Amino acid sequence: MLQLKHLRKSYHVGDTVTHALDDVTISFRNQEFVAILGPSGSGKTTLLNVIGGLDRYDTEDFNYYYNGDLIINGQSTEDFKETDWDAYRNNSIGFVFQNYNLISHLTIIANVELGMNLSGLPASERRERAIAALTQVGLKDQITKRPNQLSGGQMQRVAIARALANDPDILLCDEPTGALDTETSEQIMKLIKKLSNDRLVIMVTHNPELAEEYATRIVNFQDGKILSDSNPFTPVDEPSTFELKRTKMSYWNAIKLSFTNIMTKKGRTALTAFASSIGIISIAIVLALSNGFQKQIDTTMSKALAKYPVTITQTTTDTSNDADEEKYVKSRGYVTAAPNYLQQTTHKNKISQNYLDYVKKIDPNYANNISYQLGVNLNLLGNVNGKIKRIQFSSILPGETESQSSSSVEMPNISFAGSTIFPTSLNKNKSNFLQENYRLLSGSWPSKPTDLVLVVNNQNSVDVNVLKNLGIKINPGEKLKFKQMVGTKYKVIANDNYYQKLPRNMFVPKKVSKAMYDSSKVELKISGIIRLKNTDSMALLSEGIVYNDQLAQEIVKQNKNSVIVKTQKKTKQNVMTGQNMNATAKKQMMQSIGSSNLPTGIMIYPNNFESKDKVLAYLRKWNKGKNKSDRILYTDMSDSLTSLIGKLLGGVTAVLIAFAAVSLITSMIMIGILTYTSVIERTKEIGILKAMGARKKDIIRVFDAETFIIGIFSGVLGVTLACLLIFPINSLLYSITDLSNIGQLNPIHALILILISTILTMVGGHIPARMAAKKDAATALRSE
Ligand code: ADP
Ligand code: MG
Repeated sequence: MLQLKHLRKSYHVGDTVTHALDDVTISFRNQEFVAILGPSGSGKTTLLNVIGGLDRYDTEDFNYYYNGDLIINGQSTEDFKETDWDAYRNNSIGFVFQNYNLISHLTIIANVELGMNLSGLPASERRERAIAALTQVGLKDQITKRPNQLSGGQMQRVAIARALANDPDILLCDEPTGALDTETSEQIMKLIKKLSNDRLVIMVTHNPELAEEYATRIVNFQDGKILSDSNPFTPVDEPSTFELKRTKMSYWNAIKLSFTNIMTKKGRTALTAFASSIGIISIAIVLALSNGFQKQIDTTMSKALAKYPVTITQTTTDTSNDADEEKYVKSRGYVTAAPNYLQQTTHKNKISQNYLDYVKKIDPNYANNISYQLGVNLNLLGNVNGKIKRIQFSSILPGETESQSSSSVEMPNISFAGSTIFPTSLNKNKSNFLQENYRLLSGSWPSKPTDLVLVVNNQNSVDVNVLKNLGIKINPGEKLKFKQMVGTKYKVIANDNYYQKLPRNMFVPKKVSKAMYDSSKVELKISGIIRLKNTDSMALLSEGIVYNDQLAQEIVKQNKNSVIVKTQKKTKQNVMTGQNMNATAKKQMMQSIGSSNLPTGIMIYPNNFESKDKVLAYLRKWNKGKNKSDRILYTDMSDSLTSLIGKLLGGVTAVLIAFAAVSLITSMIMIGILTYTSVIERTKEIGILKAMGARKKDIIRVFDAETFIIGIFSGVLGVTLACLLIFPINSLLYSITDLSNIGQLNPIHALILILISTILTMVGGHIPARMAAKKDAATALRSE
C-alpha cells in the first residue's frame, strides 16, 4: 500500500518558481491499474519520479516547513537516506519510460539483467529470471540482439521485461505508448493490464481512450494538483511491513558494463590508450637502456677492467673512516682541533716477508700474474756510439726536477697509467701476461730477467724524454727505426762501482768511465717493441722501458751488502744529500739504494672477471682477526671506476625518466578529459542505473572500471610497443657501439609500469567519475 500525504515539489529557475506538485494527497491499493491523465507540464512525470524515489519531495521552502510524507507499506520515508532510496528503487520499483531508456551498447538480455546485477543475485538466477521476463513479454527469440535492432514496440517490451525482472511491487509507466502506433499501443496496454493483476501499476498517459479501456482507476491531474479520482481509496492505518535489501554492484559487473561500453568506441579508446602509452613507452625504453648499459658495465666493462691489477701499496686511503658522520654541533664559542684528515684516512700497509709469502701462495687459477715493485734505483750506463752515458728508464729529465725524481723513488709507479714492471707468471704454462695483452711489433718476447721491452702507444710513439734518457739524440716528431732500438744494450753497475765515498760518510756518483762500464757483467737488452693488442683497453704498462721484477730482485741482491747501504743503515743522515731524515724518508732512501728485497707495492692481476672476487676474498682473509694498524688494505681500481660509471648512469637515467614522466602527467590529464566526455555521453545510462537502484558508489565504480581497463590497456600497449621499439634501437646502438642487445626491459619494471599507468589513469578519471555520481537521476533521464 502506497500513501502520498501533502506532497509538494517546486522547481526554482531564476526568479520563477514552478509548483510541479502542489499538496498532493492520494493513496493506492496494492493491486490496481491507475491511469494519470493531464496536460503536458502538469507535473505527472514529477509525480512518478517522486513516487519512484528518483526525485525527492520538498520538506521545506524558503518560508515554509512542509510535513509532506510518502508512506510505503506503513513506513514513512521522512528519514530515508540516499542509500535507502537506492535500495527502495531497486527492491520495490519498476520504471517504464516513454523513450524506453535502454542502454544501447548492451544486448537485450544484458539490459534486462542490469537491475538484478545491483541486487546481487547469482549469475545463473539472473539469466533465468531475465529469460522468464522476456518470455512473458514475448521476446524470447531476440535476447542477443541490441536495442537498435528492434522496433519501438519491441524496445518497450524489453523495458517492461527489465522492470519486471526484479519482480517489483510498483510498476511506474511514464507515457509508455507515447511513441507507438495504435496497434502496438494496444498490445503494450494489454501486457501492462496483465501485470497489474498482482501489483500496483501507475501509468501516466494523455490518451483518455486507452485509460478508459484498460485502467481500473483514472486520476485527473492539473497544475500539480489532483482534479478528480474515479476510484478513491481510503487507507486504514497499518503497521509497517516494510523491508529493504541493500543494493550493490560488484567490481566485476562494473568492469563488464564498462568493457561493453568501451567496445562501442574502440577506435577512440585505442587512440587515447596509444597517446597515453607514450609516456610508458619512453620510460620503458629509458629503463631498458639504462638496465642494458648497467649490465654492459657490470660484465663486458668489468671483464675488460678485470685485467687491471688489485694493488697493494705502502700507503693507502682507508675509506672505512669516511663513514664517520659529521655531527652537527651548536656554536659554543670554541674551536676544536680536528685530527688531520690525511693522517686520519691514510693507512700504512706493513708489507712483510710473511705477507709476501701469503700472497705468493695465491691460487694461480685465480691470479697467475703478480708483479712486485721494489723501490730500487737502477744504476745504468749505456754505450752510445762508443760514448759511455748515464741511462734512465723514465720520462723525467735528469736534473730537471729534483723533487719529482725523489718522489718517484718514494712512490713506485703504480698509478693508473700503468706499471714500469711487468709481472711474472706463477705458473709458466698457464698464461703469459705480456703475450696475452700485448702485440710484438719487432724483436722477440723477453725470456730472461735481463730482457727489457719498449712499450709504445697506439700511435707507435713514446715520450721524447724517454728516448733522450736512453741516450738517444732525438727531437719531437723525429722517427726512429725499430732496428735502432731492438738489441740495444745497457749495463747495471753495482753500487760499489757506481758511488764514490767522500769524507764524513757522504757518497756521490762517480764520473762515468769506460772502466766503470766494463766493471759490470749485468747486461740488459731491449729484446722487443710491444704495444697493446686491444685498442680500446687502457694501458696496463706505462710507455717506455719496462722490465721484469726479477731484475729488480737481482739488483737488490747485488747491492744489499754494498758500502753505501751499510753506511746508510747506521745513520739518520742522507748519505747523498747530507740532510736529516725521518723514519719513512730513511726507509725510502734505503729501498732506493737496494737495501731491502721487500716490495713497496704488489700488483695482482686476476685471471678473469669471475676470479677477481676470489682474489679479493683471499686478500681479505689475511686481515681477519688483525688489529686495524696491522691490516693490509688493497685498492681495486676497476671497482672504483665501474661504480663511478654506474653512479653517472644512474644520474642520467633519473633525469631522462623525469622528462618521460612529464608525458605521463599529460596522458593522465587526457584520460581525465576522456572520462569526462564519457560521463557526458553516458548521462542517460547513469540515469537508468540510478532508476534501477544504483548507489553513487556504483556509478563511481562503473567509471573507475572504465579508466581501469583503459589504464591497463595503455600500460600493456606501452610496454609492448617499447619491447618492439627496443629491436631497432638495439641494432642502431650495435652499429654505433658494437655492443649487441643493450636494451633489455626488466619484466619487473614492465609490471611496475603497467601498474603506474593503471593507477595514473584511474586517478585522472576519478574526478569525472565523482561528477557522474553526483548527477541527478531525474535530470539525467530527462536529458536526451
Ligand atoms: P508532465 O510530465 O506532466 O508533462 P513534468 O512533471 O515533466 O510535467 O513537469 C512539471 C513542471 O515542472 C513543468 O512546468 C516543468 O517545466 C517543470 N520542471 C520539471 N523538471 C524541472 C527541472 N528539473 N527544473 C525546472 N523545472 C522543471
Ligand atoms: Mg512527462
